[in-house]
Amino acid sequence: MRYSAFNIFKQAITGHKGWKPAWRKPDPQPEYDIIIVGGGGHGLATAYYLAEKFQQKRVAVLEKGWIGGGNVGRNTTIIRSNYMLHQNEGFYEFSLKLWEKQESDLNYNTMVSQRGILNLAHSDPQRDAYARRGNAMVLNGADAKLMTPDEIRGMCPFLNFDNARFPIRGGLWQKRGGTVRHDAVAWGYARAADMRGVDIIENCEVTGFKIENGVCSGVETNRGSIRAKKIGVAVAGSSSRVMAMAGMRLPLESHVLQAFVSEGLKPLIPGVITYGAGHFYVSQSDKGGLVFGGDIDGYNSYAQRGNLPVVEDVCEGGISLMPMIGKARLLRMWGGIMDMSMDGSPIIDKTDIDGLFFNGGWCYGGFKATPASGYCFAELMATGSPSSTAKHLRLDRFSRGLMIDEKGQGAQPNLH
Ligand SMILES: Cc1cc2nc3c(=O)[nH]c(=O)nc-3n(C[C@H](O)[C@H](O)[C@H](O)COP(=O)(O)OP(=O)(O)OC[C@H]3O[C@@H](n4cnc5c(N)ncnc54)[C@H](O)[C@@H]3O)c2cc1C
Repeated sequence: MRYSAFNIFKQAITGHKGWKPAWRKPDPQPEYDIIIVGGGGHGLATAYYLAEKFQQKRVAVLEKGWIGGGNVGRNTTIIRSNYMLHQNEGFYEFSLKLWEKQESDLNYNTMVSQRGILNLAHSDPQRDAYARRGNAMVLNGADAKLMTPDEIRGMCPFLNFDNARFPIRGGLWQKRGGTVRHDAVAWGYARAADMRGVDIIENCEVTGFKIENGVCSGVETNRGSIRAKKIGVAVAGSSSRVMAMAGMRLPLESHVLQAFVSEGLKPLIPGVITYGAGHFYVSQSDKGGLVFGGDIDGYNSYAQRGNLPVVEDVCEGGISLMPMIGKARLLRMWGGIMDMSMDGSPIIDKTDIDGLFFNGGWCYGGFKATPASGYCFAELMATGSPSSTAKHLRLDRFSRGLMIDEKGQGAQPNLH
């Protein structure tokens, strides 16, 4: 069933009795050509592109919980392509271009809102670093503009410009950045993949892999064994645990990251704003709530909830940047599990086990990558060759010394 203005009108005058479920609830079949483990944004996007762009038939997505229950429905919804290293920038710019046409591609209102993202600089060296990053973005075909304090004042007069310790010295503005409604992305990809014949099987946990003589030929699940020629794992924060079932130890650590929503306020924040003197980023939802976040909690965890010291730290960052939000009440907060890689960049690659592919290491920036990740993972699985856009995101880059260390922090996952 296609969504259209005509259909809305027709349903309205017939009592809304004709809407169909957005995707089917099929039982697992004994065999598929391709299985994707993990029904988050990346797994569903992969299945969609496998069916839509690479004409793959008999594809299934196995999700241990429900669609939208993982990080895809827990993030702070920010999209952007303001990276500096060329191994990343081209990939994220490709993703932003896919976001720009996502709603018409999927025939689904994912509320892509390109209201812009502003990274604030609080010292001259930080402004110089942003100038360098902006130049790298432009060289890779993205948009970037260096803003003066006066220009920022015109856009966001409420910021704490004359903070004695962290005055605002300028900022890097990407006009095409913004936000997308996170759970709608999961639902939109699920529906579009289902319409192209993909079986989306919820409450189906993968509990093991069938591996013989270095070849993976299927998975064990709580709903029985399922055979497949190719298996792609896209389970984000559960990557280490799932790949351990295939005997693999990954260059990843799992950490918790929290998100926060305030009570509804009148429209205030024009786009996304990030604080350069602490870790704090904020946007405003269409309902008026300030949606914000900060650092990961900093210890290894598989819990989808965080601790109070980080709540305090994030709120302090916010109040230092926008003192007036001190009066707003915090309504909701939650956590998600981050698959932090050693260099802060992701992995989309084959493994040494034939037929087994891996997608992970998204740290806390994988939402914006969802379309490109799905496209490139689908291309790799369908053709056997890495996509030119994601060719640097290899699993063996750590042993080959080809790290993609965007932040320059070294092999310290909790700092990326
Ligand atoms: C609080 C927070 C804020 C964030 N903010 C941003 C942001 O603003 N911008 C941005 O770009 N990124 C952000 N991120 C990161 C982003 O959400 C993730 O990197 C991205 O969503 C991960 O990919 P995914 O959607 O496929 O993950 P998920 O939705 O977590 O999907 C993985 C799925 O695998 C399933 N699974 C696990 N084990 C198994 C198994 N054994 N069998 C079957 N299924 C299994 C899980 O149930 C889950 O549904 C944020 C994350 C959090 C938690």
